[in-house]
Amino acid sequence: MVWIICDCNSYTSRSNSTKMKLLFCPDCKDVKRLHFNKTYCKCKKSWGRYINEIDAVINSNAIPLGFDNPSLAFALGLRPMEGRGRTFDAFVIPKKCQTISVEGEKE
Ligand SMILES: [Zn+2]
Repeated sequence: MVWIICDCNSYTSRSNSTKMKLLFCPDCKDVKRLHFNKTYCKCKKSWGRYINEIDAVINSNAIPLGFDNPSLAFALGLRPMEGRGRTFDAFVIPKKCQTISVEGEKE
């Protein structure tokens, strides 16, 4: 197991990531989870995809987001019948991040 210090304010295990990457499109405000196949936002100006279990590539229009998976799983497990839902940790991934590379221009 190789540990790296990721600029996303976290230690990331190369073999067992606990973060889920998503993309946010500043044009259409869509949010999409990344997959190995290229994922586009609704207006198609932002896209991204995983290149392995940890690293992803996005285009220059997309803003990457991260969900903390254990935090999300905990909140899902405590989903209430009504009232306030449980919060979980999500964050905007910084412009410089070891696990995100930016490719291409607006499409
Ligand atoms: Zn869009």
